[in-house]
Amino acid sequence: MQRESWDVIIVGGGSAGLSAALMLVRARRRVLVLDGGAPRNRFAAHMHGVLGRDGWSPLELLAQGRAEVERYGGVVRTAEVASASAEHGSEPGFAVSLATGERHVARRMLVATGLRDELPGIPGLAEQWGNGAVVCPYCDGWEVRDRRIGVIATGERSIHQVQLLRQWSPTVVFFTNGTDVTADDLSGLTARGIGVERRAVDHVVADDDGLLRGIRLADGSEVPLDSIFLGPRFAPNDALLVGLGAEAGEGFGPGGDWVGVDPTGRTSVPGLWAAGNVVSPGASVPVAAGAGNLAGAAINADLIDEEIRLALAG
Ligand SMILES: Cc1cc2nc3c(=O)[nH]c(=O)nc-3n(C[C@H](O)[C@H](O)[C@H](O)COP(=O)(O)OP(=O)(O)OC[C@H]3O[C@@H](n4cnc5c(N)ncnc54)[C@H](O)[C@@H]3O)c2cc1C
Repeated sequence: MQRESWDVIIVGGGSAGLSAALMLVRARRRVLVLDGGAPRNRFAAHMHGVLGRDGWSPLELLAQGRAEVERYGGVVRTAEVASASAEHGSEPGFAVSLATGERHVARRMLVATGLRDELPGIPGLAEQWGNGAVVCPYCDGWEVRDRRIGVIATGERSIHQVQLLRQWSPTVVFFTNGTDVTADDLSGLTARGIGVERRAVDHVVADDDGLLRGIRLADGSEVPLDSIFLGPRFAPNDALLVGLGAEAGEGFGPGGDWVGVDPTGRTSVPGLWAAGNVVSPGASVPVAAGAGNLAGAAINADLIDEEIRLALAG
């Protein structure tokens, strides 16, 4: 099977991966970006809190990023990486295989494959994801300021989320959804005028156009809402990193330990970097892009160290 050789292979062409690619192609490195084409925020029509691009479509941002990488000679392909392995030699090296069987090798590798938002199994919720139902108050709170907001509890962080949302609207209802609320938390909610709904959530209701209408409770009553916020379970797309032996670092709550990286995105495996949501669930678009930018520069510096070693060895 044909193998093509690169300085750096980047798996994942979201904000993190493309930002790293831009740094590396501008440093005259041969870069291949392999991207499955499913960025986490693909469900949202607009993104916010992204300086200079506030309100842009997330997909438009990535299309622009791809064009910028390609302008400097980078290759960006829509392709799913099936597996990766380390190439054993005196210097780091990696081989990746696509689902088609095609193989590529590179001196360094960056994994920027993002995460999956695993939603609770409430009927009607998945259909609203990214529009009527969202995760991040800073991304979507302004658009529903002073409107009717519901927060469905999914875990410990939900109290913080609902208290945050009170900043955007005086009309906020907390759906406990079977979770416990401590007496202290309840006092805090009541003190700030946040409604508490303990009846079980049955399903999310949409109107004839598919737009969010509210939440239907198990007793048949309906709470009308303009927006739902909730914290999904974050599942990192880290199979390639774990398969290559990258060690766990800091844990991010339920779901266990996540792969650990240093401030530049370097993993415990020589030559292997990771950036963005795959190692940092809180990273917004600008933070993921910043992590990719740092990783790109660090990978280039690591390649230069290798080139010094090789030059000295003659
Ligand atoms: C509904 C919603 C709305 C959001 N709104 C905002 C907002 O307004 N502002 C904001 O700053 N942030 C927002 N975010 C967060 C934003 O989505 C993330 O910050 C951002 O996507 C992280 O970038 P990333 O590059 O780490 O991962 P991603 O953007 O998820 O990119 C990862 C890429 O890797 C690819 N990939 C995965 N596995 C493989 C594989 N094996 N082979 C090849 N490719 C692979 C995927 O297809 C994907 O294209 C929102 C998130 C959600 C869920």
